[in-house]
Amino acid sequence: MDLYELTISQAQTGLAKREFSSLDLVNAMLDRIEKLDGDIGAYITIDADGAREAAIEADQRIANGYYLLKHESFTNNGSNLDSSNYRYPLLGIPIALKDLLCTIGVKTTCASKILENFVPQYDATVVSMLKNAGAIIIGKTNLDEFAMGSSTENSGFHITRNPWDREHVPGGSSGGSAAAVSARMCIAALGTDTGGSIRQPASHCGVVGIKPTYGRVSRYGLVSYASSLDQIGPITKDVEDSAILLNVICGHDPLDSTSANIEIPDFTSALELFKNYGLKGMKAGIPKEFLSVKGLDPDVETAFNNAKDTLEKLGVEMVEVSLPQTDYAVAAYYVIAPSEASSNLARFDGVRFGLRDNSANDLIDMYKKTKSKGFGAEVQRRIITGTYALSAGYYDAYYGRATRVRAMIRDDFTRAFEKCDIIISPVAPTPAFKIGENIDDPLTMYLTDIFTLSTNMAGLPGISVPCGFSSKGLPIGLQIMANSFDEMALIRAGYGLEQTLAIKDKFPNI
Ligand code: GLN
Repeated sequence: MDLYELTISQAQTGLAKREFSSLDLVNAMLDRIEKLDGDIGAYITIDADGAREAAIEADQRIANGYYLLKHESFTNNGSNLDSSNYRYPLLGIPIALKDLLCTIGVKTTCASKILENFVPQYDATVVSMLKNAGAIIIGKTNLDEFAMGSSTENSGFHITRNPWDREHVPGGSSGGSAAAVSARMCIAALGTDTGGSIRQPASHCGVVGIKPTYGRVSRYGLVSYASSLDQIGPITKDVEDSAILLNVICGHDPLDSTSANIEIPDFTSALELFKNYGLKGMKAGIPKEFLSVKGLDPDVETAFNNAKDTLEKLGVEMVEVSLPQTDYAVAAYYVIAPSEASSNLARFDGVRFGLRDNSANDLIDMYKKTKSKGFGAEVQRRIITGTYALSAGYYDAYYGRATRVRAMIRDDFTRAFEKCDIIISPVAPTPAFKIGENIDDPLTMYLTDIFTLSTNMAGLPGISVPCGFSSKGLPIGLQIMANSFDEMALIRAGYGLEQTLAIKDKFPNI
């Protein structure tokens, strides 16, 4: 096995056993990036020097007896490992970050020309948490500008190609992170999800992605798109790695007033639950409105049914549930998210940071020219839509109504979860579409978010787990949703599905 193929848990074991060094791991990733990324375009910034330096430091810590695992059978410097030494759960592991997360001293562009040269002066809380856990930040990944999109074609710099078929999009907006994990140009990555941006690209690239419950993970240092919907989460090669990463990034943060002060389970123990008890006793709801959605691809339907049968064989009882607001969810989301975006993006005005057009004659002209130059077409569309929806006279007809639909979506889920522990559905109506296919048709693009965005509107967690392939060989994921703060159920069921389906050729052959 090549080093670039390793999962987090395999890399931890190899590092603890001294089979290779962290520097070996980082170099393997950098070689892989060098070979493939010219074509895939998953990264915006690669921090080769920073990563190598951090790897050398990690190797020193390993040599000094800072242990990696709470695993009795490994010894480091001859002493037995015990849990008190479990200080750096990600020591020496290279991780990629969506370029919407602030990194001290490393450019954070949000894939926007307006922030092309922006270098933050602090780390996002999740980045500090990763670093405190010993992780190495290898680079910053591509996205739709400010996370607005579903294909990564809206990046202000370049598109990202799907590693399974380079004519296709990787999904979005965390398309760079998903493509980097799928092409094994990092061991794991973080993405963000406002309406599906972790789960949909994970599905399109054949990897695992979790959007945690709103409030589970601090958003401090995440450049806001729609603050009431955004969450950061893992994109990984398998379910176990997502659980490992979640363990590191979850937790209360006084710097984010929406961060929840709630107990954090050891998410990896959900794997043990599956190993010991299977999925018996679990009930899964199938929303009847989802399967009658127009344009549901037959390959997606087949993969969904296969996943459903697999879960049933594992003891999950299927029940029908209803999410009646499904018809209105996309419309309501595309009022709320742009409204929040129009307010959040007002700060990029050419005065305090980022691009400034110096050809302007006066302040207003400078604002106009800077924003027209700095923001791409989709971001401008969102700002205009959002500003309109919030303007006096229209506020109640648009924003007010959308928030009422949002409350009804939440109620739909509350009712549904009275009947079940998890809800399953496809992640997206079709497998990855072709580059260019939807880019000139925003409405079609927006409609592809139909299965994912309701969970954001309700604040609930969701996972995408690979469950099959289309007839063209493109990966398809199953979405599992759960009640607030019940990520354990997602991981347990997702792990059960992953282990039972045991999909061969899990990664593109590149
Ligand atoms: N596609 C959705 C949008 O463009 C979701 C994006 C996201 O989750 N960041 O708003």
